[in-house]
Amino acid sequence: MDIKQAIFEEFKQLVAIDSESGNEQPFLEHLYNKFENEFGAECLYDKAGNLIMRVPGAAGKEPILLCCHGDTVKPGIGIEAVMAEDGNITSKGDTILAADDKAGIVEIIWAIRTAKEKGIELPPLEVVITFGEEVGLLGSTALDYSLLKARKGIVIDGGDLNEIVIGGPTHLVYEAQVLGKAAHAAHIPSEGINALKAAANAVATFTVGQVDHETVCNIGRFVCDVATNVIPEKVAIKGEVRSLDESKMLAHWETIKNAFNTEAAAMGATFEILEEKTHYKAYNLDEAHPLVEKLKVILTEMGYDVKAQRILGGTDAANFNTGGIATVVIGTGGKGAHSLTESVNINDMVKVVDILLELLPQL
Ligand SMILES: [Zn+2]
Repeated sequence: MDIKQAIFEEFKQLVAIDSESGNEQPFLEHLYNKFENEFGAECLYDKAGNLIMRVPGAAGKEPILLCCHGDTVKPGIGIEAVMAEDGNITSKGDTILAADDKAGIVEIIWAIRTAKEKGIELPPLEVVITFGEEVGLLGSTALDYSLLKARKGIVIDGGDLNEIVIGGPTHLVYEAQVLGKAAHAAHIPSEGINALKAAANAVATFTVGQVDHETVCNIGRFVCDVATNVIPEKVAIKGEVRSLDESKMLAHWETIKNAFNTEAAAMGATFEILEEKTHYKAYNLDEAHPLVEKLKVILTEMGYDVKAQRILGGTDAANFNTGGIATVVIGTGGKGAHSLTESVNINDMVKVVDILLELLPQL
């Protein structure tokens, strides 16, 4: 069988195993068996449920982390991949394709398989398949880093092959409320304290959206649902702030808290934070880091106009970098992730295999 057809067949098989977030186990089990049987990998789950597969490699070389996430978004049940003549792969249209992130997993498998067939010596690999990435990086957040020896890593979970991610934000999520006092809006308005008005006054004073070139702020919940003749007593708020520069994130968070406290107090209301959580911390890989440099050279030689960028989205790489493993994100070749028109071209999947085969022996 032609290699492209063989890669497609394997991809088709992997996406056919349902693994929506929270239901990854059968899929992880499939990979566990494949890696153990075909590559002689030592496979284990950490306590949280991440799959770690240690693939033996060249003696004396330090291990390298390769990571993809095992979960998919919805609708991801009963995915059937179809390949067109030009090599473009899509679902049948009623589900996602799950190239995000199974294209990456297939690319890892084929890099290892091809290296074995051609006698290319790879370093020992620590292949980590995380769970719950799509619902808040759950797996990599809870990962037992003491089980990993790698100090360099590659997450294969982006889109275009010319884009590599070398930095990410500190991401804070909060849940809060403004408390006023209920009263009949027509009979005794002077006895009420309108929590909604106080909260709205506060939001009007700080930037929501793009705060500066590397900081963003959003409010996703602003809920108060009472009858029109009742002065609202409570507003429930959920929001987030992210910045590539943690001090900027903290500064904007201070601004938000001050605004709510000041505007609530001005009306006799109170502001309470119910939960405040930093999901992951900012990281910034040096462009001169050998991993980044080598990757840039390889991609440039393959004809790509390389963009090494810091992005405000969350990836498992954020947690790996915080966990002491210098990790970049490279693309799978996938396009339109999280949509019914998601696709990946087989030619791009072959290129990612080539990139890994070039890069890994150099690390
Ligand atoms: Zn992904």
